[in-house]
Amino acid sequence: MTLAKQTVLKSFAAVVHDHGRCVTTAMAKAETACATAGKRLTPLRRRVLELVWGSHLPVKAYDLLAILGREREQAAPPTVYRALDFLQQVGLVHRIASLNAFVGCGEPLQGHVSQFLICTQCGTVAELANLSVSASISASAEALGFQATRQTIEVEGTCKHCSRRGAQTHP
Ligand SMILES: [Zn+2]
Ligand SMILES: [Zn+2]
Ligand SMILES: [Zn+2]
Repeated sequence: MTLAKQTVLKSFAAVVHDHGRCVTTAMAKAETACATAGKRLTPLRRRVLELVWGSHLPVKAYDLLAILGREREQAAPPTVYRALDFLQQVGLVHRIASLNAFVGCGEPLQGHVSQFLICTQCGTVAELANLSVSASISASAEALGFQATRQTIEVEGTCKHCSRRGAQTHP
């Protein structure tokens, strides 16, 4: 499947929205993505994904461990890390390297490059798949004889909701 030059995979959610719907949609896409890949979304993997989708904020592994430790006896750290690895491999979850935290993928059914926009005010993360950006990096890398295999682009800034809030407090 070819993507448009710039695709928004996950936009900045409105401050107040029906997040239950985001979770339901994400879980349905996850089931399809696993079925397509011939992988099994075990109850633990499913629960970890639900917790990552708890909000639009990145989640740290130790926060997941704390919640799962309370919920399940057999949620030993290695088990939870393996579930996170699995979710990343299938593309259901992305790791935000600069925050060492995880976010749910907005479009796990499309194999894609991602650029992450991170709001430093509210912490929300949006996901873009801009192919010209990745192609341009690959071309520059190739000019140096470097084959790019993975690109992680994380951009910090202020989301539209926080900009608006800032404008209200400081007219
Ligand atoms: Zn939501
Ligand atoms: Zn994604
Ligand atoms: Zn924000």
